Order: sequence, then structure tokens, then C-alpha cells
Amino acid sequence: MTQVKATNVHWHEGNITRDERWKALGTKGATIWFTGLSACGKSTIACALEQALCNQGVACYRLDGDNVRFGLNKNLGFSAEDREENIRRIGELAKLFADAGILTLASFISPYTKDRDAAREVHKEAGLDFMEVFVDASLEVCEERDPKGLYKKARAGEIKGFTGIDDPYEAPTSPELVLNAGETDVAACVNECLRFMADRGLIEIAD
Ligand code: ADP
Repeated sequence: MTQVKATNVHWHEGNITRDERWKALGTKGATIWFTGLSACGKSTIACALEQALCNQGVACYRLDGDNVRFGLNKNLGFSAEDREENIRRIGELAKLFADAGILTLASFISPYTKDRDAAREVHKEAGLDFMEVFVDASLEVCEERDPKGLYKKARAGEIKGFTGIDDPYEAPTSPELVLNAGETDVAACVNECLRFMADRGLIEIAD
């Protein structure tokens, strides 16, 4: 539970509403939250999706696990508490991006259900769309891919608390979308995301 330390703070309303901002900018914000084991394909799919969206002139931005830990979250490690705070900050960050009118592609292992649910909740409270996408690939497939050699290190005991090896991954029970990234190629996964986003009225796709 996050300790609230700020006192005497008051929300300062702007002069325009979110709808007015989105309309003026010709945009629509929402958060697409990719979760799954390390190496399941979250970043690869989000990068390809960002490219496809940019080609269509859709305002989008990627928030990515490691990247966020270079700056905003560089003071956090991988203990359960730090993972919780990592996801809490990212949930808040994604909410701000979405509020600004950006289709925000958040790719984080985010192994714990309660942390993902908390990210969903802050969006809900703000009246913003939050879509959980489970990038589903088995541990065997992920370990086989191992693009950063992390599973190898975890198996050798050089990394402790690695998700899927000696730390749990709680798969989503009711995600908005499941991508079978263990068997479906990247382009097909991206197309599924685009179709799904079009169905939600977030983008238009040419037939
Ligand atoms: P994550 O962000 O989930 O840790 P990455 O995207 O960094 O995973 O790595 C996934 C690896 O799996 C990449 O080397 C990618 O090329 C490969 N890959 C193979 N098939 C797929 C697929 N269908 N979707 C995503 N990545 C795939």
C-alpha cells in the first residue's frame, strides 16, 4: 500500500475538458497494457504496432519495462514491493499519456494480478479505456528464445527472483485480448491488435 505523504495539495482544473483537448488535437487516448513472461514478445509486438499506428498518423507512444527503469524507476529493483511501485508509477504515467490523447502501449511483465488491477483502476477512476493484452507464450518457448540471455542467467542462479523461474507469473484471468505469441507470428499478432483497437473505436482500419 502506497504511503501518502503529500499534504495540502489541491487538484487544479484546466480551462478545457479532455474531450475538447482530444478534439482539438484530433486524437483519442487509451492504454493498451501488454503483460506476459519475459521474452514472450511484448516489446517486439508493441514496437511493430507503434510503427503501424504511426504510419496511419495515430498518436501513440510506447512505455517499455527496461526503458522506464533507466529513468523514472531507476531507484526500483525486482522485489515484490519494488515491482508493485514500478507498476504503480507506470499505471499513473500511462493514465497521464492516455489523458493527453495518446494511444499508450505499455509493455511490462507486470506479473502480479493485483498490480495490473490497480493500473486498470486508476484508468477507470479517470474514465479512460484500459485494455489488458495477455501475450501468451509458454515458459519453454520464452526460455528457448531468451533474446537477452536472462533465463540462462536465472537458471544458473545469477539472477534471483526471475519471473517464471523463481518468482511467480499470475496470468490474467479475463484479459480483453489474448495473443498466442508462442505460435502466431509478429505480423499476425499486430493485425489482431489493430482489429481489436478498431472494434473498440480507437482507430480506423482500411478494409
Ligand atoms: P518481451 O518484451 O516480452 O520480454 P521481446 O519482444 O523482447 O520480449 O522478445 C521476444 C523475442 O521473441 C524476440 O526475439 C522476437 O523476435 C521473438 N518472437 C518470435 N515470435 C514472436 C511473436 N509471435 N511475437 C513476438 N515476438 C516473437
